[in-house]
Amino acid sequence: MVNLTINGEAVTVPAGTTILQAAETIGVDIPNLCHDRQLEVYGGCRICVVEVEGARNLLAACSTPVTEGMTVWTESERVVKARRMNLDLLLANHKVECIICDKTGDCRLQDYCYRYGVKESSFHGDKSEQEMDRDNHLIERDPNKCILCGKCVRVCHEVQVTGAIDFAGRGFDTRVATPFDIPLNTDICRFCGQCVGVCPTGALINRQFKGTRPWEVTKVRTTCLFCGVGCNYDLNVKEGRVIGVTPTAEAPVNGSSLCVKGRFHSDLLYHPERIKTPLMKKDGDFVEVGWDEALDAIAAKFNAVKSAAGADAIGALSSARCTNEENYLMQKFMRAALGTNNVDHCART
Ligand code: SF4
Ligand code: SF4
Ligand code: SF4
Repeated sequence: MVNLTINGEAVTVPAGTTILQAAETIGVDIPNLCHDRQLEVYGGCRICVVEVEGARNLLAACSTPVTEGMTVWTESERVVKARRMNLDLLLANHKVECIICDKTGDCRLQDYCYRYGVKESSFHGDKSEQEMDRDNHLIERDPNKCILCGKCVRVCHEVQVTGAIDFAGRGFDTRVATPFDIPLNTDICRFCGQCVGVCPTGALINRQFKGTRPWEVTKVRTTCLFCGVGCNYDLNVKEGRVIGVTPTAEAPVNGSSLCVKGRFHSDLLYHPERIKTPLMKKDGDFVEVGWDEALDAIAAKFNAVKSAAGADAIGALSSARCTNEENYLMQKFMRAALGTNNVDHCART
């Protein structure tokens, strides 16, 4: 274990812990734009710099491991001055339009500029002007709001392991690009949306959230029903309607990861062909019936089959589209209520 102080408070953490992680253990928030706990350390944005007594330069908290006896100051005058300068430099090549930006209220760049009182850039050189990618119906890309933190590139490579995007160009012309600058499409991209989820600015937007401010939604934690993995996420509900899904880092199964179905297809809830009531075949056609009628019919048929041929003449096929709890109830019902072990599941393959 290593002992150090952060802002005058004693901290003891395992060797190998970074200053950023040590600060988190005592609730000290060190700002960062390129760091994400699911990604390899990058140390690119320099917003997390802190002052360490005895060190000549400010050190990046995300990539500096703690050492015995270290004394760290996270908001000293020198640190704040450096952070202001780094934000000033980022804004120098950023399309600042917070009033109409879809990310406003949920943007780390905006938050940190507010926190450190950076209203505009003091640098007045060229700004890169790049085409927005609006062709895709799931993800909107505005490279003019990209701060080149690299999180999208790294999550695509390290977590999703697809590599649909990477840095292209050099110096002022550096940008995040697809191969040959083609629009995002299913040849190169899995549309998992991980890149959107980690982007700290409005450079990548989930189009389902366009026109909604973050404070207009209520988040409801639930389990995804598209497959049997059991990912957790938050349904974002606006005026009684689910408008989209956001992942939660606390999800035990999936962390911040989701697939295309879970992240982007909550819209199927409102599909006009969604089955919302039981259907019973009458005179050769399926017709909608109430739950009482459906359950009575099922019970009568189960009882008839069981009386005629025994419980093992009945079997149940459950679904990966159900939660673990629903699948548990299905096998319990078959075993305890009907008396058969004939239980199977569509995920057997
Ligand atoms: S990305 Fe952030 S800082 Fe940039 S315009 Fe949008 S809200 Fe403002
Ligand atoms: S949606 Fe997924 S696969 Fe496509 S670029 Fe983003 S992270 Fe990569
Ligand atoms: S698109 Fe977003 S996540 Fe990717 S480098 Fe730019 S700011 Fe970072």
